[in-house]
Amino acid sequence: MKNELDKCIGCKVAFCNGCPCGTDVGHIIQLIKSGNLDEAGQLLFFNNPLSAITGAICPSHEFCTKSCILSRKGNPVNFSNIEREISKQYLEKLATGELGIAIQDNLHARHFAVVGGGPAGIAFAFYAILAGHNVVLFERESELGGMLRYGIPDMRLDKSLIDKLENVLVNRMGIRIYKNTEFVSSKDYFDEIIVATGVGSSKRLDIDGKEHAIGALEFLKEMNTSPCDLTGQNIVIVGGGNVAVDCAIVAKHHGANTTLCYRKSKQDLRAYPKEIEHAEKMGVKFEFWASPSQIKKGKAIFERDGKEISFCSDKTIIAIGQDITKPEIDGAHYIGDCVTGTRTIIEAVASAKKLLDKLHKEAIAKAKEFFKLD
Ligand SMILES: Cc1cc2nc3c(=O)[nH]c(=O)nc-3n(C[C@H](O)[C@H](O)[C@H](O)COP(=O)(O)OP(=O)(O)OC[C@H]3O[C@@H](n4cnc5c(N)ncnc54)[C@H](O)[C@@H]3O)c2cc1C
Ligand code: SF4
Repeated sequence: MKNELDKCIGCKVAFCNGCPCGTDVGHIIQLIKSGNLDEAGQLLFFNNPLSAITGAICPSHEFCTKSCILSRKGNPVNFSNIEREISKQYLEKLATGELGIAIQDNLHARHFAVVGGGPAGIAFAFYAILAGHNVVLFERESELGGMLRYGIPDMRLDKSLIDKLENVLVNRMGIRIYKNTEFVSSKDYFDEIIVATGVGSSKRLDIDGKEHAIGALEFLKEMNTSPCDLTGQNIVIVGGGNVAVDCAIVAKHHGANTTLCYRKSKQDLRAYPKEIEHAEKMGVKFEFWASPSQIKKGKAIFERDGKEISFCSDKTIIAIGQDITKPEIDGAHYIGDCVTGTRTIIEAVASAKKLLDKLHKEAIAKAKEFFKLD
């Protein structure tokens, strides 16, 4: 963290405003430099309750790091390193009760049902309760976190951060969370229903033998919930995005001979360069210009330059994108990945904040009208 702090030249007019949630990078760095760590942590957390998590895995090179003026010289401040350290400490203090949270009294309180406990649902519930509304969050799975819990590999994200955040939401803020509960519409009980159900399922390939393959999200969920030793197995991954590379990293980490096959060139890979480099260093093999044509038991067959090539494959994983499947609920509001397709945690948080801001303003306006206030 110190290296990154030292790099910051404290621009009078700061350009480092690329965070989708408007994190005030320059101000936070100044606070840390002057020793106000809790204040910096507070600013980060209340601007983005998942800051300890985004600090660890936000693709900041697309956002705040990219907007730092020093990126023009190729050596920008990597703010996520700073955010990770400060936010982790701050979350710890909130979870243990060393620091408190003030929740507004709200005469205009509304009853919100939040469907989905991923980043978007968590962020909406957080801001709604802070503003004094009543919130019930429904999560289909047995644990909170959405893709943070079931998609992103353990090696990239310390899942205890989600547990600590949940502890704060439930025990310090009083958010009611029902897990193992798939939401079935019941508008009667709630003023508003907020749908934050994410993308749903992996896209399937329509080729012969597709039944022998498994979807990327299903594979990652399986390895996140009950990881197993894959030593000696051959695993072939079809795709070239971040999710494909995550599958490759997980398979390799658990001992499999791992090959990632992509239908275009290395330069066309959509995964982040840092992740590709990491996978290469781990020993993942990459095959380019390989289009999948058939999957057989024990074999994945591709076409390259009009010729057939095949790889031994005990498990073929299809990582070519996700299909959005969301509940259609009359009058509901939709946020996060279920609107945009897979994006990023910080964009899911930003969409939740934007919606809460709108609904909160509407609640106040309605109350003023009702009580005939100015
Ligand atoms: C493999 C992978 C790696 C990623 N890596 C990164 C990364 O490094 N950095 C980054 O910023 N982003 C990353 N992302 C993207 C990020 O995880 C998502 O953008 C983010 O999780 C979206 O949040 P969300 O709340 O919209 O959806 P989700 O996280 O998908 O959460 C939706 C939740 O809704 C629940 N749900 C669905 N239907 C119902 C229902 N009917 N009733 C109740 N609950 C329901 C689901 O169980 C789930 O918990 C990654 C995504 C994947 C798949
Ligand atoms: S959430 Fe991401 S973009 Fe926003 S300040 Fe943190 S690292 Fe930068």
